[in-house]
Amino acid sequence: MRLVLLGPPGAGKGTQAQRLVARHGIVQLSTGDMLRAAVAAGTPVGLKAKDLMARGELVPDEVVVAIIADRIDQPDAKKGFILDGFPRTVAQAQALEQLLARKKLKLDAVIELVVDDNILVSRIEKRVAEMRARGEPVRADDNPESLKKRLSAYHAQTAPLADHYRKKGLLKSIDGMAPIDACTAAIARHLTVPAARKAPVRKAPRGGTRGSVKARSGGRKTGAPKARTRKPVTRKTKRKAAAAKKRPAGRKLPRNTAQKRRSGRARRLTKRR
Ligand code: ADP
Repeated sequence: MRLVLLGPPGAGKGTQAQRLVARHGIVQLSTGDMLRAAVAAGTPVGLKAKDLMARGELVPDEVVVAIIADRIDQPDAKKGFILDGFPRTVAQAQALEQLLARKKLKLDAVIELVVDDNILVSRIEKRVAEMRARGEPVRADDNPESLKKRLSAYHAQTAPLADHYRKKGLLKSIDGMAPIDACTAAIARHLTVPAARKAPVRKAPRGGTRGSVKARSGGRKTGAPKARTRKPVTRKTKRKAAAAKKRPAGRKLPRNTAQKRRSGRARRLTKRR
């Protein structure tokens, strides 16, 4: 399975990616983590990315595309992967498509976690406070100014990807403000909908489908109900059926005719008097 996780900083991409790793046995490829590792190791890529990242700006497309191209060729990515933080621009998405097409591979789905900006800010502030309390190092870009930049970079450069993937029929949008487990469940539902359930639901034939499934399917316990060969319902047959329903057994004339006759005789009697 090959997935893309789309969402602003603090949307919960990392958390959901870890759960997808555990569930599907595929690898998480986070460009943010790879770039931070490059910065920490002081590689040429790290040197290019360091200041841009600290300011909350995007690293050039060609740099991240080259990292991803290398990474998806590794043996552990053969079974599938979750891209977390990549692609982040339409140009990166196109580069990814070309990369996969050359390998005769395709994306299975793009999961978008939708979260309001005000919630993102408080989530990141909480994350920073918790990391400080545990004595852990805080990311260079987890400060109010860089966060503002990361959010505006997301809206300007990454959010248009939702439309890009919607047009391709790959986008699954999830409410990222729901509790973590509910998000996980929503993602799982999107990824496991069988083809049969995706087909448009056909209305039951007019006249109802009362009776047990067994009766409807002609005594068969499993499989689709047998095709029904009913007479077509016309206005005439409907009228007949309605009249038969109203008429009690044994009564010869329809009630309204008898009533008419009685009321005619009553009229004549009144006239005579
Ligand atoms: P976030 O929490 O903002 O989603 P990430 O860990 O995914 O953070 O990325 C951190 C930073 O790394 C980004 O702000 C950006 O500078 C850089 N980065 C990560 N992925 C990409 C990418 N696909 N394209 C450009 N820059 C990237």
